[in-house]
Amino acid sequence: KLHNTILTLKGNIRVFCRVRPLSPGSPHVEALESGQPVLAFPAAGDSMTVPVELTASNGNKNTFTFDQVFGPTASQEEVFEEVSLLVQSALDGYKVCIFAYGQTGSGKTHTMLGTPDQAGLIPRAVEQVFTAARQLEASQGWAFQMKASMLEIYNEEYKDLLGKGPPAGKKHTVSHDEKSGATSVSHLESVSCGDPAAVKMLLERAARVRTVGATAANDHSSRSHMVFLLSIHGSNAATGQQLNGMLNLIDLAGSERLKVSGASGERLRETQAINKSLSALSDVIAALGSKEAHIPYRNSKLTWLLQSCLGGDAKMLMITNVAPTLAAANETLCSLRFAAKVN
Ligand code: ADP
Ligand code: MG
Repeated sequence: KLHNTILTLKGNIRVFCRVRPLSPGSPHVEALESGQPVLAFPAAGDSMTVPVELTASNGNKNTFTFDQVFGPTASQEEVFEEVSLLVQSALDGYKVCIFAYGQTGSGKTHTMLGTPDQAGLIPRAVEQVFTAARQLEASQGWAFQMKASMLEIYNEEYKDLLGKGPPAGKKHTVSHDEKSGATSVSHLESVSCGDPAAVKMLLERAARVRTVGATAANDHSSRSHMVFLLSIHGSNAATGQQLNGMLNLIDLAGSERLKVSGASGERLRETQAINKSLSALSDVIAALGSKEAHIPYRNSKLTWLLQSCLGGDAKMLMITNVAPTLAAANETLCSLRFAAKVN
């Protein structure tokens, strides 16, 4: 396999593509209703990148290349295998961001959280971090402390998914310590976790908070970004070494373009907030890629929150989730273009 070498050969930004299967419940119905799959996977040749070919409804073919591509039959385990080195580097003191990007229904939440019998990237990453930490503690004199936070960004506002949030009339504010590179979010609950089971309980708690919100605001979860933060503090009494790693795992809001002109009220605000934050994210990545002096972190709550974990020697992975159907082809084209821009 060529993937793991990419970690050393490429810069700090990697872009993957994952194509979900036809609707697992009713693949034939989905194919009949919305047209046959429109994505193909031509041979990679001897290049380091992997192509995906999209046939648009007018028959035009567009080819995009990725650092890794997962077809509809790829398992959660196979996806995690390609991510595990990146996750591991958080234990070496790196700051790591992994994003799932794509239209609603393309498989972002499946990729990040998964289901009880098909665990996604977040539970697998947590499991790996704790296992590796315990090994380092047993063999090399390290002691690790893990703290988890979870928040949602909806309409350009932060919302704590684990704690009560700020007192009435106050908002969460994010500040960055220039010297240490540490980020702090006011009034954000940060929970010490001794094992993966403790994190799992937090994930479940956050999921319940999100579902309650969903009945109030229609389809809320697809209109907001969900951010899981795991801070890893390590100290080694024998050598005096210290490290501060950070794992940021983000299930982004649906990227589908809702026409601002057709939307009104709450929907309009949501749409503008999502457009703003996703384009801010791609602007930041583009600015980092072209080594610009000014990185526009302040343009959205998402990039502002993640500032210390985007850039510098931080490592970043964007997983572009796409659906395989003809009905989704236009959105898929937009997602692949977005990915090409950040790649
Ligand atoms: P999103 O979070 O992007 O809106 P979801 O993750 O909720 O999309 O996926 C939409 C549906 O497709 C869900 O029912 C999900 O379980 C299913 N699904 C997505 N990706 C896969 C996959 N790789 N394998 C099996 N089912 C999947
Ligand atoms: Mg989702």
